[in-house]
Amino acid sequence: MTMLLQGKRLLVTGVLTDKSIAYAAARLAQEQGAEIVLTGFGRGLRVTERVAEKLPRPCDVLEMDVTRPEHIEAVVADLDTRWGMVDGILHAVAFAPKSALGGGFMSASWDDVSTALHISTYSFVALGRAFGPLLAKAGGGSIVGLHFDASQVWSGYDWMGVAKSGLESSCRYLAHAMGGQRTRVNLVAAGPLRTVAASGIGSSFGDFEAVWPTLAPLGWDAADATPVGRTICALWSDWLPQVTGEVIHVDGGAHAVALGTPADAPG
Ligand code: NAD
Repeated sequence: MTMLLQGKRLLVTGVLTDKSIAYAAARLAQEQGAEIVLTGFGRGLRVTERVAEKLPRPCDVLEMDVTRPEHIEAVVADLDTRWGMVDGILHAVAFAPKSALGGGFMSASWDDVSTALHISTYSFVALGRAFGPLLAKAGGGSIVGLHFDASQVWSGYDWMGVAKSGLESSCRYLAHAMGGQRTRVNLVAAGPLRTVAASGIGSSFGDFEAVWPTLAPLGWDAADATPVGRTICALWSDWLPQVTGEVIHVDGGAHAVALGTPADAPG
C-alpha cells in the first residue's frame, strides 16, 4: 500500500523538543514515507540534533535562524544539492520577548515588538520567497504554518496575537503570490499544546488550557500534538490539491463555540 507521503521531501523547522508540534509532524511524515531535514537555531541547535535522534529515522539538522537571510540561503543551497527540489515546508517558528506578552501589550517597545513580528510573521513570507524555486521544481509543493486563532483577544497573548493576525494575512498574500507556480500555502490553527513556546506565554497559557475543554465539542488534550501533526501531513500530501490561503482549525472545534460547557462523557 502506498503511504500518504511516499517519496516526499520535506523541510521541517521548529523542532526543539519531542513536545514541539513540528516533532509530531516530522515523526508522522516519516511514518508516512517522507524524507525530512530539520532546522534548528542558536543554542537550541544542539538540542534539536539530539531530538532528531529520537525520530523513527534520525535525520540531518541544518542551522537556520529565520532572521538571518544568509542562513536561509545556505539551507536553500543545501537542499538544492541534496534533493534538487522540495515538496513541502513546515514553518513552526514563533517568538516574542517577555515584555510583549503576559500583559505587556501597552508597554512593549518597538524593538521588542519588531523582534516578535520578524520571527513570527515576516519569516513565513521570507521562507516562501527563498524556497519558491525549489518548490516549483517539485510541481508547486505545500507550505504549512502554525497559527493560534487571532480573530479575538486572548488576554496575555498580546503582541503574539497581533503577530498571528499578520501571519494569517501573510498566508493569504503568499498563497496569492505563489499560486501561479501551484504552491499551496496554508495554516493550521492549533489549540493549546504544552511546549516551550507555550510556556513563554506565562500564566495565561494555563487559562487557555483550562477554558479549552469547556469550548471544544470534541474535547482537547493539551499534551497531544498528534492531531495537529496529522493535519500538517494531510496538507503536505496530494489529497488537498485545491486548498490554499486557508486556515484549518485543529482545536477540537473550540473556535466555533462562544460559550460552552464541558462535553458529555461518552456512553
Ligand atoms: P516550540 O517551542 O517547540 O517551537 C518553537 C520553535 O521556534 C522552536 O523550535 C524555536 O527554536 C523556534 N524559533 C524561535 N525563534 C527562532 C528563530 N529566530 N529562527 C528559527 N527558529 C526559531 O513550540 P511550539 O508550540 O511547537 O511552536 C511551534 C509553532 O506553533 C509556533 O508558531 C507557535 O506559535 C505555534 N502554535 C503553538 C501552540 C501551542 O499551544 N503550543 C498553539 C498554536 C500555535
